Amino acid sequence: MALRSHLPNVGAGFSPLQDRLKPVLTFSITLQPMRAVQIVAPNQPLAAASLPSLPPGAGEVTVEIAACGICPSDAHYRSGFGDVAMPRTPGHEVAGVVRAIGEGVSSVNVGDRVAVHYLRTCRECRSCTQSGEQFCESGEMIGKHRDGGYAEFLNIPDRNAVPVPANVPLEIAALMMCSTATAFHALRVARMQPGETVALLGFGGLGVSGLELAKALGAKRVAVVDVVPEKRAFAESRGAEAFADAGELRDVDVAIDFTGRAAVATAGLRALRPGGRLMVVALSEEPISLNPYRDLVAKERSIVGCSDHLRSELVELLEMASTGRLDLRHAISRRVALDANEINEVLDTLDRGTSALRTVITRSLDS
Ligand SMILES: [Zn+2]
Ligand SMILES: [Zn+2]
Repeated sequence: MALRSHLPNVGAGFSPLQDRLKPVLTFSITLQPMRAVQIVAPNQPLAAASLPSLPPGAGEVTVEIAACGICPSDAHYRSGFGDVAMPRTPGHEVAGVVRAIGEGVSSVNVGDRVAVHYLRTCRECRSCTQSGEQFCESGEMIGKHRDGGYAEFLNIPDRNAVPVPANVPLEIAALMMCSTATAFHALRVARMQPGETVALLGFGGLGVSGLELAKALGAKRVAVVDVVPEKRAFAESRGAEAFADAGELRDVDVAIDFTGRAAVATAGLRALRPGGRLMVVALSEEPISLNPYRDLVAKERSIVGCSDHLRSELVELLEMASTGRLDLRHAISRRVALDANEINEVLDTLDRGTSALRTVITRSLDS
């Protein structure tokens, strides 16, 4: 991203405050080309690349990346889904340290630990002002429409840099930017209340976050449905009831479908108590069949969907992690280097289906 016209602006318009940051900016300018791992063609392995590491433009900050989660979406993009322009550096679950700030940035300082809100929005269109930033008419996703976090550095608008409390590890903060935030938004939009029973249909990265969040938000009972025995065992170790078949569910207030399988969603719907909500999160185009009277009307059930999340929810999540209400240390199952072979192997396992939770690309930074 942003490999355009930033260089000519460097050095222009420094305020006295920014003068103190000049050495840092110079450091950024004189960096060797940065390493990245990119999608270069559909259905082909990701490849190592050497890209220019440019200073931030006006209103932007440069983040040196400490952690980037490998999301199943990245495997989909590698397979050619999502109309991703190539070459593209994927990675939308990113956290690191601010190394430089551009002209006009005052909300973020060099040295700040930040996580990256992956939605770039205009903040002015009708969707941004009335419906929700995730529906921005010119919105772009970092790691899909713009280059993302499978790299050493990333330039982002200052608003997209979300401060990470000192006691929250950057790799945990990175994970929160996608799966945890989506699970949080799903529980919010489903109006989950303390004392309710939550069923999580499918137990991958989203499900793990959903379980920890449901507990943190006061769920009386959390039920997990997954066909993989190892995942069920893990869910039980974290305090959930676990089932192989959604047809075994009973007395659920909120069922969240992460599977995208119509039969599972329908079973979740039928397990709902009166007034229960089925929240559809999975990106599926498979039609869901239902009996309007029996499945909806007679029990005043509802079916809702949700998309992405809000920046404000990221701030809340990081606060929950900082105060200990939300514990995601168990969500990371593996760490790899910024290495094309290692990353491709992880994407291969995601394509095949895996019992592992999240893998994170980690780099240790000097500070
Ligand atoms: Zn993701
Ligand atoms: Zn907008």
